[in-house]
Amino acid sequence: MKYQRSSVLFKEAQRYIPGGVNSPVRAFKAVGGTPVFVKEAKGAYLYDEDGNTLIDYISSWGPLILGHAYEPVIEAVIDKARKGTSFGMPTEIETELAKLAVSMVPNIDKIRFVNSGTEACMSAIRLARGFTGKDKIIKFAGCYHGHADAFLIQAGSGAVTFGSPNSPGVTEGTAKDTLLATYNDLDSVDALLKANKGDIAAVIIEPVAGNMGCIIPEDSFIHGLRERCTSENILLVFDEVMTGFRLGAGGAQEVLGIKADLVTFGKVIGGGLPVGAFAARKEIMDHLAPDGPVYQAGTLSGNPLAMSAGLAMLKALDKQPEVFQSLEKKTRYLHEGLKKVLTDHGIPHQINRFGSMISVHFTKEPVTDFESAAKGNNETFKKYFHGMLDQGIYLPPSAFESYFLNDALSYEDIDKTIEALQTIAPELK
Ligand SMILES: *Cc1c(COP(=O)(O)O)cnc(C)c1O
Repeated sequence: MKYQRSSVLFKEAQRYIPGGVNSPVRAFKAVGGTPVFVKEAKGAYLYDEDGNTLIDYISSWGPLILGHAYEPVIEAVIDKARKGTSFGMPTEIETELAKLAVSMVPNIDKIRFVNSGTEACMSAIRLARGFTGKDKIIKFAGCYHGHADAFLIQAGSGAVTFGSPNSPGVTEGTAKDTLLATYNDLDSVDALLKANKGDIAAVIIEPVAGNMGCIIPEDSFIHGLRERCTSENILLVFDEVMTGFRLGAGGAQEVLGIKADLVTFGKVIGGGLPVGAFAARKEIMDHLAPDGPVYQAGTLSGNPLAMSAGLAMLKALDKQPEVFQSLEKKTRYLHEGLKKVLTDHGIPHQINRFGSMISVHFTKEPVTDFESAAKGNNETFKKYFHGMLDQGIYLPPSAFESYFLNDALSYEDIDKTIEALQTIAPELK
């Protein structure tokens, strides 16, 4: 594959945009090389600026669960755009999308739309603090909840210590209210609960993690969290920005059989346009302005184009719930194919999969949390990523990201993907 034009475009972009990108992972820092500039996409395929066709495994990092340029979404957006793109006044379609989302997701009565997953998580935490009258939150190392200050915190020396900022610009004052626990480790949570009794407003978690590769919650862990939150009067926040409307119509709450107190959304709920949302039962949501004292607002929130894309997407999923099984089957097929090739070539690996989320880790030990994910061999990952790209397969350009399958992918595409790995496997040793 040639990347001449991408290379030129990247150089030009770097002159005017920091790092040449508007979100860091796109810059290929973790894998090296030139980011692929995409020209257009349809179904399962990306068409780049150099004329290459790539089979896409990121689906815009999740939103495009039914494939690129999905016709009902495109039609809905075009139709809406002709009638005006923003009003700053209420529109009926906001209620339509809210009503449909509330009907699909268990345990929520009301939903507020924002413009990104970051905003959704940031606002959910403010609401949890306002509702409980407490300040501190617990998050898990390796879970990503967007780039708001409260979430850009890294683990201190021990699980009971406060986190410290992991980005300049995040203050110590903010960091002291974010406590870091270890995914799949209830003891780490118990230690924090004990040391901060009565001070914790919320525990926020990716119910199936996708930002340190795909990591599956152990049953006892996720149920244990629910019990502890209930008994300590702490709100359990499921960040379903990735899992919502992907693992099933009702997201991880439904699939895991656990009720969260607050749920955040993004990605699929916007059908590829910038939408985030947070939702809860009525008594919690009624604390939000204008009904309640917790402030939250947005000039473009509930934007008609974004709502029309989200509505077309959720309607499509609501009408064909079998799509989630279809995706899971395709993902399992991919899993088995990749596993066989890597095993046949004696390449140490772990493949984690849940529904249509999957990740490959080049390590011998099971990957269950951030620390074990970080043990993956990044040199092998780089070769894997670039080798697959050369074969026309676009994977996430970081070992810490989950793949997101879309239902436009055919078994033939997946076979091609497995063959691609077969071709490059000898180089991965
Ligand atoms: C993508 C993501 C976010 C952030 O959403 P943005 O729309 O990028 O701000 C938050 N939480 C999770 C779990 C995500 O995967």
